[in-house]
Amino acid sequence: MGFKSVAIDGPSGAGKSTLARQVAQAMGYLYVDTGAIYRTLGLAVLRAGIAPEDTVGVVDLLGRISIDLGHGDDGLQHMYLDGEDVSSAIREPEVSKCASGVSAIPAVRAFLMDMQRNLARRQNVIMDGRDIGTVVLPDADVKIFLTASPEARARRRWDELHARGTKVDYETVLRDIVARDERDIHRDTAPLRQAEDAVAVDTTDIGLEESFQRLLNVVQKGVGA
Ligand code: C5P
Repeated sequence: MGFKSVAIDGPSGAGKSTLARQVAQAMGYLYVDTGAIYRTLGLAVLRAGIAPEDTVGVVDLLGRISIDLGHGDDGLQHMYLDGEDVSSAIREPEVSKCASGVSAIPAVRAFLMDMQRNLARRQNVIMDGRDIGTVVLPDADVKIFLTASPEARARRRWDELHARGTKVDYETVLRDIVARDERDIHRDTAPLRQAEDAVAVDTTDIGLEESFQRLLNVVQKGVGA
């Protein structure tokens, strides 16, 4: 019997990672945060002083660094850049911007896609990102498109950054989110869009617990649990 896969796509701040992690835990599946993989490359590009739109420079760097993904006993995903645990460093706002920039490069997407598909070949997974249901795992057993209004998403992202001690104002976070949506939706390769067979869940007006229950229902039904 093959392994089950669940694809959760949507814009930044819709609650994908929190909810996907919770549903994965409830189902006993491995949670894979694919944004963290793009962020790790974004961090490497930033550290190397390469412009994210410098396709040749970014692709050359990709061949010289190692990006690894591991899971601790706690089930949390850790990202390693040349062996260094960068799980926390990749959450900074300037890394978000850079990740979004490099993710528009087709060669980058092709390279990182293999890494994502290999993970889904070895175990039951819940994978979140932008193009999981449309490109990475088009045959996923369950596809969910998770959204919320830009304002609700900016508020949640601000709360998260604030809790981690990152000083940034709400207006800046909202502006960044809208700009990132624009780039993710309008890029030529693997743009952010809802797969035709995805179930849409809008979390603007519902809390985390209700969102979790809805997602869990969709997933359980979809995998026949
Ligand atoms: O989800 P997260 O905000 O961590 O993703 C960071 C950036 O990586 C996104 O803005 C998006 O441009 C890119 N990304 C992507 N495809 C994915 C996951 C993330 O292009 N599957």
